[in-house]
Amino acid sequence: MTQTALPQALAARAQAGTLGHAWILTGAAEERLEETAKALAAAFLCQGDGPRPCGGCKACRKVDRDIHPDFQWVEKPADKREILVSQVRAMRSDVYIRPNEGRRKVYALKNAWQMNEEAQNAFLKVLEEGPAYGVFLLLSENHLALLPTVRSRCELLRLTPGGGEDAQAAQLGGELAERLLAGDRWELLRWCVPFEKGKREEVLPIWQAARQAVLTRGPSGQMAQAAALAQVLGEVIAAGERNGNMGALWGRLLAAAG
Ligand SMILES: [Zn+2]
Repeated sequence: MTQTALPQALAARAQAGTLGHAWILTGAAEERLEETAKALAAAFLCQGDGPRPCGGCKACRKVDRDIHPDFQWVEKPADKREILVSQVRAMRSDVYIRPNEGRRKVYALKNAWQMNEEAQNAFLKVLEEGPAYGVFLLLSENHLALLPTVRSRCELLRLTPGGGEDAQAAQLGGELAERLLAGDRWELLRWCVPFEKGKREEVLPIWQAARQAVLTRGPSGQMAQAAALAQVLGEVIAAGERNGNMGALWGRLLAAAG
C-alpha cells in the first residue's frame, strides 16, 4: 500500500501528538489535497507504535480505503452548487457521537470554499464548541475564499506545488501566472511564443499550475482579477482536455490578461 507521507514539519508533531484539530489544506490541486488529508487523518487515527501514519495498521488501511468509521468526507451534493448548511449541521450532530474505533473523529471537507457564508458560520460553531476529539480538515485550493473568522481558527498547511516531473510545469505555470497577473501584454506574448505550438499534454500541466499559482499567489489587492483569470484558465483547461484547438485557447487566455 502506498500512503502519502506527511509533510516533514507535521510528521514530528504527529509523532509527538501535538497536531492541532483544525486545518486548512491549500496550495495544490484538489487531488493532492485529498491525498494529504488522508495522510493527516491516518496520523490522527493510526494505532501503530512508530512514526504516524504507519501505513500498515488496521486504522491506516481503513483510512486509505475510505472505510474508517471515524473518518468522513464532506462535499457538496452533485446537484447543488454549494456545501449546504444542513450538511454542516449534520456534521455537528455527528461529532458528538463518540468515536467508534479510534480516539478522534476526523472530517475532511472537499472544496471547502464551496461553503456559503451561512454554512461557514455553522462550521465556526463546530470548531468553537465541538468536542476535543473532533478534527476538521478544510481542503481549499483558494483558502482566501474562506471567511477570515474561519481562517483565523485553523492552521494553514500550504503544500508546495509539483515535485519530481511536475516541477517544471509548476515552475513554468508560476511564470505564466505572474505575467498574466502583471497584465504586460507584450511581455506575456513574448513568453508564450515557444508554447503556442506546444503539445496538448505539455501545455495542460502548465495551465493547471498557472491556475493554481493565480489562486494561491495572487496579491491580495488583485483578488477579483485573480478569480477571473482562474476562471478563464479553468475553461481553457477543460476545453483543452476535450481536444479543443490549443492555438485558439492560447488566444483566449491572452485576451483575458491585463
Ligand atoms: Zn497506522
